[in-house]
Amino acid sequence: MTAPDRQTASDFIRDIINDDIRTGKYGGRVHTRFPPEPNGYLHIGHAKSICLNFGIAAECRGLCNLRFDDTNPAKEEDEYVRSIIEDVRWLGFDWQDRLFYASDYFEPMYDCAVQLIRAGKAYVDDLSADDIREYRGTLTRPGRDSPHRNRSVEENLDLFTRMRQGEFEDGSRVLRAKVDMASPNLNMRDPVMYRILHARHHRSGDNWCLYPMYDWAHGLEDSIEGITHSICTLEFEDHRPLYDWFLDQLGVYHPQQVEFARLNLSYTVMSKRKLLELVEQGQVTAWDDPRLPTISGLRRRGYTPEAIRDFCDRIGVAKTDSTIDIALLEHCIREDLNKRAPRFMAVLNPLRVVIDNYPHDRTEQLEAVNNPEDPAAGTREVPFSRVLYIERDDFREEPPPKFFRLAPGREVRLRYAYIIKCVGVTRDNHTGEVTELHCTYDPATRGGNTPDGRRVKGTIHWVSADHAVPAEVRLFDRLFTVEDPGVDDFRKSLNPGSLRVVTGYLEPGLAGAAPGIRVQFERLGYFCVDSKDWAPERPVFNRTVALRDSWARIEKQLP
Ligand code: ATP
Ligand code: MG
Repeated sequence: MTAPDRQTASDFIRDIINDDIRTGKYGGRVHTRFPPEPNGYLHIGHAKSICLNFGIAAECRGLCNLRFDDTNPAKEEDEYVRSIIEDVRWLGFDWQDRLFYASDYFEPMYDCAVQLIRAGKAYVDDLSADDIREYRGTLTRPGRDSPHRNRSVEENLDLFTRMRQGEFEDGSRVLRAKVDMASPNLNMRDPVMYRILHARHHRSGDNWCLYPMYDWAHGLEDSIEGITHSICTLEFEDHRPLYDWFLDQLGVYHPQQVEFARLNLSYTVMSKRKLLELVEQGQVTAWDDPRLPTISGLRRRGYTPEAIRDFCDRIGVAKTDSTIDIALLEHCIREDLNKRAPRFMAVLNPLRVVIDNYPHDRTEQLEAVNNPEDPAAGTREVPFSRVLYIERDDFREEPPPKFFRLAPGREVRLRYAYIIKCVGVTRDNHTGEVTELHCTYDPATRGGNTPDGRRVKGTIHWVSADHAVPAEVRLFDRLFTVEDPGVDDFRKSLNPGSLRVVTGYLEPGLAGAAPGIRVQFERLGYFCVDSKDWAPERPVFNRTVALRDSWARIEKQLP
């Protein structure tokens, strides 16, 4: 095997793997896997693991499997399987013909369990779950042997067979590994290998009423698939001795487990249990709600696979837990969309502007640049007419210092159009609120030029009122108000203002924009046409991210 192509900076996992290639462990092979349990949708933390496993395989000309770790029928569903397949593919990774299901290995796993029983390394225990916990002891108190620990091989074989045949009730018996009740590592105190569960499995149906526990199943899955490096998150470090013990006792092919720190992100939660709770309790609309850190939520929000992969590259892989600032994720999508999102003008909080000296019946097409970052993107025409909308925020009756936009008697530049001057204000008789501005335009400033060299500092965006396309625009804020919503009851810190819906007025070029299209609304942020609520006659735009980049500022302050 040749040396890996290096695109990503090295890290301790890549170092281990490169050493193994060099020394010929596993014959120089590299074979990883991404093993999600189909009990929820994937989130950005999973993306880290996906990029790591598939990324390393690609760099080392190795292979990476997609494997569903579907050993718990109570919480798993086909919908999750489908969404996971879609998400991994969308992120840009390919498992070729290596899509596997742990449930397809139930039969060989069972045979291996019988092998351990025969070797006197596993026994059927009749203790209840509570008693097993009690007997297990604690970090300071050694465990005690179960009264059933020394059953004969024959009795164990008989009971285990009958467990499989459905003779016993849920929870009445388990199969345990006979390891060491005095081990300082609690995972080694005769861990449960099988439990009885009369539940329908999303794939194997009613074939089984006996289901393997994670620690027993996972190493076998890896072994069966010929995995070389079983990369998992840090909480499994204490389980590694057990992973090794099972494979050693069986004398089968033995992959190496390697642990890394999971991704934590500020202002959000990442556990599937918590995400499911938010979905089920209606705090968000679904698993793909654009406010969630799920892959499908990020996709709907307008994130690109490139930005997510870039993010995973930048955060790197380490052995100690840390929390990443969500501003870094936002920085990555901004950087990507800045390069490729075409610009448009849209007004989200409209104030009517009448250009008094512009003819009633006239419409001009003005040329606008599609993307200043990409000359190949060309230009487009934007209609200009007598009545416009500008953002309410771009006008102040009493402008504070350094306010360079529109105010009574002042001039401002309309992007790609003219310089206008505010000559009058109309207000609501009752509320006093400004309802309309009267302005004049200077025909000599077409395109925003000032041939006389006069200084006009402010430039604002606008749309022609008659031509604008109204659209539903969804503005998102962080889902939680605190940096670490995980510490307390996470529902208490939900941000009540995480979704604001407004009617926006868009440049007519956006009429009929297809679902998934990503654009920049000048000065307002990047937006994406919603792929779920979209209808040709009713455009819905999600704001992916605002323009102001707090990460750039944070980065400057970093040591
Ligand atoms: P959760 O804690 O969100 O329920 P999980 O670990 O139970 O996640 P799995 O479906 O078992 O979810 O995860 C599949 C793979 O993704 C595992 O290898 C797991 O280690 C990895 N993974 C899960 N969450 C993260 C994370 N936050 N950062 C990095 N990797 C993760
Ligand atoms: Mg898990």
